[in-house]
Amino acid sequence: MQYKPLSGREFPRFSAIKTFFRLPHVGTQEKFDVGIFGVPYDGAVSYRPGARFAPSKVREASSLGRGFHMERGYSVFDHLKVADVGDCPIVPIDQHQTYEKIEAFADQLLKKKKRFLAVGGDHSVTLPLLRALKKAHKKPIGFIHFDAHLDTYPAAWGCEYHHGSFARHAVEEGLVAPEKMIQIGIRGPLASKDDLEFAKKYKIKVITVEDIRKGNFEAFLKKLPSFGDYPTYISYDVDILDPAYAPGTGSPVVGGLTTYEAQRIFRALKVKNLVAGDVVEINPAYDHSDITSLAGVDALFEMLCLMAQKSS
Ligand code: MN
Ligand code: MN
Repeated sequence: MQYKPLSGREFPRFSAIKTFFRLPHVGTQEKFDVGIFGVPYDGAVSYRPGARFAPSKVREASSLGRGFHMERGYSVFDHLKVADVGDCPIVPIDQHQTYEKIEAFADQLLKKKKRFLAVGGDHSVTLPLLRALKKAHKKPIGFIHFDAHLDTYPAAWGCEYHHGSFARHAVEEGLVAPEKMIQIGIRGPLASKDDLEFAKKYKIKVITVEDIRKGNFEAFLKKLPSFGDYPTYISYDVDILDPAYAPGTGSPVVGGLTTYEAQRIFRALKVKNLVAGDVVEINPAYDHSDITSLAGVDALFEMLCLMAQKSS
Protein backbone atom coordinates (compact mmCIF):
# COMPACT_ATOMS: atom_id res chain seq x y z
CA MET A 1 0.00 0.00 0.00
CA GLN A 2 1.30 3.44 -1.01
CA TYR A 3 0.33 5.95 1.67
CA LYS A 4 0.60 8.92 -0.66
CA PRO A 5 -2.08 11.41 -1.67
CA LEU A 6 -3.58 10.86 -5.08
CA SER A 7 -1.64 13.08 -7.49
CA GLY A 8 -3.47 16.22 -8.61
CA ARG A 9 -1.48 16.05 -11.83
CA GLU A 10 -2.91 12.64 -12.60
CA PHE A 11 -6.43 13.04 -11.23
CA PRO A 12 -7.58 16.69 -11.03
CA ARG A 13 -8.25 17.83 -7.46
CA PHE A 14 -11.98 18.21 -8.07
CA SER A 15 -12.21 14.56 -9.11
CA ALA A 16 -12.01 11.23 -7.27
CA ILE A 17 -13.62 9.96 -4.06
CA LYS A 18 -13.10 12.40 -1.19
CA THR A 19 -10.76 11.25 1.57
CA PHE A 20 -8.62 13.36 3.93
CA PHE A 21 -5.73 14.76 1.82
CA ARG A 22 -6.70 12.32 -0.98
CA LEU A 23 -5.02 9.56 1.04
CA PRO A 24 -6.03 5.91 0.88
CA HIS A 25 -9.08 4.92 2.91
CA VAL A 26 -8.10 1.81 4.89
CA GLY A 27 -9.18 -0.14 7.97
CA THR A 28 -7.72 0.66 11.39
CA GLN A 29 -5.67 -2.57 11.40
CA GLU A 30 -3.60 -1.70 8.31
CA LYS A 31 0.05 -0.70 8.57
CA PHE A 32 0.23 3.09 8.66
CA ASP A 33 1.68 5.58 11.15
CA VAL A 34 -1.10 8.15 11.49
CA GLY A 35 -4.82 7.57 11.00
CA ILE A 36 -7.11 10.51 10.29
CA PHE A 37 -10.78 9.94 11.07
CA GLY A 38 -14.02 11.85 11.35
CA VAL A 39 -16.13 12.06 14.52
CA PRO A 40 -19.48 13.28 13.19
CA TYR A 41 -21.13 13.97 16.54
CA ASP A 42 -22.60 17.30 17.68
CA GLY A 43 -25.03 16.20 20.37
CA ALA A 44 -23.28 18.25 23.07
CA VAL A 45 -23.41 21.73 21.52
CA SER A 46 -24.96 24.57 23.48
CA TYR A 47 -25.77 26.88 20.56
CA ARG A 48 -25.64 26.19 16.81
CA PRO A 49 -25.77 22.51 15.82
CA GLY A 50 -24.16 21.27 12.60
CA ALA A 51 -20.58 20.21 13.38
CA ARG A 52 -21.61 16.63 12.58
CA PHE A 53 -21.27 17.61 8.93
CA ALA A 54 -17.64 18.73 9.28
CA PRO A 55 -15.81 15.46 8.52
CA SER A 56 -17.23 15.11 5.01
CA LYS A 57 -16.79 18.84 4.30
CA VAL A 58 -13.18 18.84 5.56
CA ARG A 59 -12.43 15.80 3.39
CA GLU A 60 -13.68 17.76 0.40
CA ALA A 61 -11.71 20.90 1.32
CA SER A 62 -8.57 18.81 1.86
CA SER A 63 -8.51 18.01 -1.87
CA LEU A 64 -6.36 21.14 -2.09
CA GLY A 65 -4.01 19.90 0.63
CA ARG A 66 -0.39 19.29 -0.30
CA GLY A 67 2.46 17.65 1.60
CA PHE A 68 5.53 19.90 1.40
CA HIS A 69 5.85 22.47 4.19
CA MET A 70 7.79 25.45 2.84
CA GLU A 71 9.04 26.73 6.20
CA ARG A 72 9.94 23.30 7.62
CA GLY A 73 11.50 22.16 4.35
CA TYR A 74 10.09 18.63 4.26
CA SER A 75 7.16 16.70 2.93
CA VAL A 76 5.04 15.10 5.60
CA PHE A 77 4.14 12.17 3.37
CA ASP A 78 7.83 11.31 2.84
CA HIS A 79 8.16 10.72 6.58
CA LEU A 80 4.83 9.32 7.67
CA LYS A 81 2.37 6.78 6.34
CA VAL A 82 -0.92 8.60 6.76
CA ALA A 83 -4.34 7.11 6.03
CA ASP A 84 -8.00 8.05 6.17
CA VAL A 85 -9.54 5.45 8.48
CA GLY A 86 -13.09 6.60 7.89
CA ASP A 87 -15.54 7.90 10.46
CA CYS A 88 -15.74 6.71 14.02
CA PRO A 89 -19.13 5.05 14.75
CA ILE A 90 -21.39 7.31 16.80
CA VAL A 91 -25.00 7.30 18.01
CA PRO A 92 -26.47 10.71 17.17
CA ILE A 93 -29.13 10.53 19.89
CA ASP A 94 -27.06 8.97 22.70
CA GLN A 95 -24.11 10.83 24.19
CA HIS A 96 -22.95 8.08 26.55
CA GLN A 97 -22.88 5.40 23.87
CA THR A 98 -21.15 7.81 21.50
CA TYR A 99 -18.32 8.53 23.96
CA GLU A 100 -17.82 4.79 24.50
CA LYS A 101 -17.62 4.21 20.76
CA ILE A 102 -15.16 7.08 20.26
CA GLU A 103 -12.91 5.77 23.04
CA ALA A 104 -13.05 2.21 21.64
CA PHE A 105 -12.19 3.48 18.14
CA ALA A 106 -9.14 5.35 19.45
CA ASP A 107 -8.17 2.28 21.51
CA GLN A 108 -7.91 0.22 18.32
CA LEU A 109 -5.35 2.64 16.87
CA LEU A 110 -3.40 3.18 20.09
CA LYS A 111 -3.05 -0.55 20.77
CA LYS A 112 -1.15 -0.78 17.47
CA LYS A 113 1.05 2.19 18.54
CA LYS A 114 -0.46 4.43 15.90
CA ARG A 115 -1.01 8.14 16.17
CA PHE A 116 -4.21 9.82 15.08
CA LEU A 117 -5.91 13.06 14.11
CA ALA A 118 -9.66 13.33 14.68
CA VAL A 119 -11.97 15.73 12.86
CA GLY A 120 -15.01 16.61 14.97
CA GLY A 121 -17.74 17.06 15.80
CA ASP A 122 -18.30 19.33 18.74
CA HIS A 123 -15.54 19.81 21.30
CA SER A 124 -16.95 17.24 23.71
CA VAL A 125 -15.56 14.47 21.46
CA THR A 126 -12.07 15.31 22.73
CA LEU A 127 -12.89 13.87 26.16
CA PRO A 128 -13.26 10.19 25.13
CA LEU A 129 -10.19 10.55 22.88
CA LEU A 130 -8.17 11.73 25.89
CA ARG A 131 -9.56 8.84 27.98
CA ALA A 132 -8.12 6.41 25.42
CA LEU A 133 -4.77 8.21 25.42
CA LYS A 134 -4.51 8.18 29.22
CA LYS A 135 -4.96 4.38 29.14
CA ALA A 136 -2.38 3.97 26.35
CA HIS A 137 0.27 6.20 27.92
CA LYS A 138 -0.53 5.25 31.52
CA LYS A 139 -0.15 8.84 32.66
CA PRO A 140 -1.78 12.23 32.16
CA ILE A 141 -0.58 13.67 28.85
CA GLY A 142 0.52 17.15 27.80
CA PHE A 143 -2.31 19.23 26.39
CA ILE A 144 -2.30 22.22 24.06
CA HIS A 145 -5.81 23.62 23.81
CA PHE A 146 -6.48 26.17 21.05
CA ASP A 147 -9.82 27.86 21.71
CA ALA A 148 -11.67 31.12 22.25
CA HIS A 149 -13.30 29.39 25.22
CA LEU A 150 -11.85 27.84 28.36
CA ASP A 151 -14.22 24.83 28.14
CA THR A 152 -13.81 24.34 31.90
CA TYR A 153 -17.34 25.56 32.56
CA PRO A 154 -19.83 23.96 34.97
CA ALA A 155 -22.75 21.68 34.11
CA ALA A 156 -25.48 23.19 31.92
CA TRP A 157 -29.18 22.37 32.21
CA GLY A 158 -28.17 19.77 34.80
CA CYS A 159 -25.91 17.98 32.31
CA GLU A 160 -22.24 17.52 33.17
CA TYR A 161 -21.04 16.67 29.67
CA HIS A 162 -21.25 19.32 26.98
CA HIS A 163 -18.81 20.97 24.60
CA GLY A 164 -18.02 23.69 27.13
CA SER A 165 -17.01 21.34 29.96
CA PHE A 166 -14.72 18.77 28.31
CA ALA A 167 -11.47 20.44 29.46
CA ARG A 168 -12.64 20.51 33.09
CA HIS A 169 -13.47 16.80 32.95
CA ALA A 170 -10.14 16.05 31.26
CA VAL A 171 -8.31 17.69 34.17
CA GLU A 172 -10.56 16.28 36.91
CA GLU A 173 -10.31 12.76 35.50
CA GLY A 174 -6.49 13.09 35.40
CA LEU A 175 -6.33 12.59 31.64
CA VAL A 176 -4.13 15.64 31.08
CA ALA A 177 -1.38 17.09 33.26
CA PRO A 178 -2.34 20.66 34.34
CA GLU A 179 1.35 21.62 34.65
CA LYS A 180 1.80 20.52 31.04
CA MET A 181 -1.32 22.21 29.72
CA ILE A 182 -1.82 25.52 27.95
CA GLN A 183 -5.02 27.15 26.77
CA ILE A 184 -4.33 29.56 23.96
CA GLY A 185 -6.50 32.13 22.15
CA ILE A 186 -8.84 32.64 25.08
CA ARG A 187 -10.97 35.79 25.07
CA GLY A 188 -14.06 37.24 26.62
CA PRO A 189 -16.67 38.03 27.44
CA LEU A 190 -17.11 35.38 30.14
CA ALA A 191 -20.27 34.67 32.12
CA SER A 192 -18.46 35.93 35.23
CA LYS A 193 -15.04 36.22 36.87
CA ASP A 194 -15.65 32.75 38.35
CA ASP A 195 -15.01 31.23 34.92
CA LEU A 196 -11.30 31.89 35.49
CA GLU A 197 -11.18 30.08 38.85
CA PHE A 198 -10.69 26.58 37.45
CA ALA A 199 -7.48 27.50 35.59
CA LYS A 200 -6.22 29.33 38.69
CA LYS A 201 -6.96 26.35 40.96
CA TYR A 202 -5.03 23.93 38.75
CA LYS A 203 -2.36 26.49 37.75
CA ILE A 204 -3.13 26.01 34.05
CA LYS A 205 -1.33 28.45 31.76
CA VAL A 206 -3.96 30.57 29.98
CA ILE A 207 -2.73 32.62 27.02
CA THR A 208 -5.29 35.21 25.93
CA VAL A 209 -5.50 36.99 22.59
CA GLU A 210 -4.40 40.08 24.53
CA ASP A 211 -1.25 38.21 25.65
CA ILE A 212 -0.57 37.27 22.01
CA ARG A 213 -1.20 40.70 20.53
CA LYS A 214 -0.19 43.27 23.15
CA GLY A 215 3.57 43.05 22.54
CA ASN A 216 5.96 41.84 19.89
CA PHE A 217 4.57 38.73 18.18
CA GLU A 218 7.98 37.22 17.38
CA ALA A 219 9.04 37.60 21.02
CA PHE A 220 5.78 35.96 22.10
CA LEU A 221 6.40 32.96 19.82
CA LYS A 222 9.89 32.48 21.24
CA LYS A 223 8.49 32.40 24.78
CA LEU A 224 5.99 29.59 24.19
CA PRO A 225 6.58 26.81 26.75
CA SER A 226 8.42 23.65 25.70
CA PHE A 227 6.74 20.25 25.91
CA GLY A 228 9.98 18.44 25.06
CA ASP A 229 9.57 14.68 24.52
CA TYR A 230 6.51 14.46 26.75
CA PRO A 231 3.53 12.78 25.00
CA THR A 232 1.35 15.70 24.00
CA TYR A 233 -2.06 16.23 22.42
CA ILE A 234 -3.25 19.28 20.48
CA SER A 235 -6.93 20.12 20.38
CA TYR A 236 -7.78 22.80 17.85
CA ASP A 237 -11.17 24.44 18.29
CA VAL A 238 -11.52 26.45 15.09
CA ASP A 239 -13.21 29.29 17.01
CA ILE A 240 -9.73 30.35 18.15
CA LEU A 241 -9.83 32.16 14.81
CA ASP A 242 -11.76 35.39 14.42
CA PRO A 243 -15.19 34.86 12.81
CA ALA A 244 -13.78 36.75 9.79
CA TYR A 245 -11.39 33.81 9.32
CA ALA A 246 -13.70 31.07 10.59
CA PRO A 247 -17.37 32.02 10.28
CA GLY A 248 -18.43 28.38 10.12
CA THR A 249 -18.44 27.47 13.79
CA GLY A 250 -20.97 26.89 16.54
CA SER A 251 -20.09 29.58 19.10
CA PRO A 252 -18.17 32.36 17.34
CA VAL A 253 -16.33 35.00 19.40
CA VAL A 254 -15.07 38.22 17.81
CA GLY A 255 -11.54 39.50 18.37
CA GLY A 256 -9.79 36.23 17.51
CA LEU A 257 -6.63 35.28 15.69
CA THR A 258 -5.98 35.41 11.98
CA THR A 259 -5.31 32.12 10.20
CA TYR A 260 -1.72 33.28 9.65
CA GLU A 261 -1.17 33.93 13.37
CA ALA A 262 -2.43 30.43 14.13
CA GLN A 263 -0.03 28.99 11.54
CA ARG A 264 2.87 30.84 13.12
CA ILE A 265 1.94 29.54 16.57
CA PHE A 266 1.86 25.95 15.25
CA ARG A 267 5.30 26.43 13.70
CA ALA A 268 6.71 27.83 16.94
CA LEU A 269 5.40 25.01 19.17
CA LYS A 270 8.14 23.08 20.94
CA VAL A 271 6.52 19.64 20.82
CA LYS A 272 8.65 16.65 19.89
CA ASN A 273 6.16 13.93 20.70
CA LEU A 274 2.72 14.83 19.34
CA VAL A 275 0.79 11.60 19.95
CA ALA A 276 -2.59 12.75 18.65
CA GLY A 277 -4.72 15.78 17.95
CA ASP A 278 -8.05 17.01 16.73
CA VAL A 279 -9.79 19.81 14.86
CA VAL A 280 -13.27 20.48 16.19
CA GLU A 281 -16.25 22.85 16.01
CA ILE A 282 -16.25 23.38 12.25
CA ASN A 283 -19.87 23.98 11.29
CA PRO A 284 -20.26 23.90 7.49
CA ALA A 285 -23.82 25.28 7.56
CA TYR A 286 -22.51 28.68 8.75
CA ASP A 287 -19.40 28.66 6.57
CA HIS A 288 -18.81 30.73 3.44
CA SER A 289 -16.68 29.58 0.50
CA ASP A 290 -15.25 26.82 2.76
CA ILE A 291 -13.11 29.41 4.64
CA THR A 292 -13.43 27.52 7.92
CA SER A 293 -13.01 24.04 6.47
CA LEU A 294 -9.84 25.19 4.70
CA ALA A 295 -8.50 26.63 7.98
CA GLY A 296 -9.26 23.26 9.58
CA VAL A 297 -7.37 21.43 6.83
CA ASP A 298 -4.40 23.69 7.44
CA ALA A 299 -4.43 22.95 11.17
CA LEU A 300 -4.43 19.22 10.34
CA PHE A 301 -1.47 19.78 8.01
CA GLU A 302 0.51 21.67 10.67
CA MET A 303 -0.17 18.87 13.16
CA LEU A 304 0.93 16.22 10.66
CA CYS A 305 4.14 18.20 10.15
CA LEU A 306 4.73 18.28 13.92
CA MET A 307 4.30 14.50 13.95
CA ALA A 308 6.64 14.08 10.97
CA GLN A 309 9.27 16.18 12.70
CA LYS A 310 9.88 13.43 15.25
CA SER A 311 10.69 10.81 12.65
CA SER A 312 12.40 13.13 10.15
MN1 MN B 1 -13.95 24.43 22.58
MN1 MN C 1 -14.61 27.36 21.43
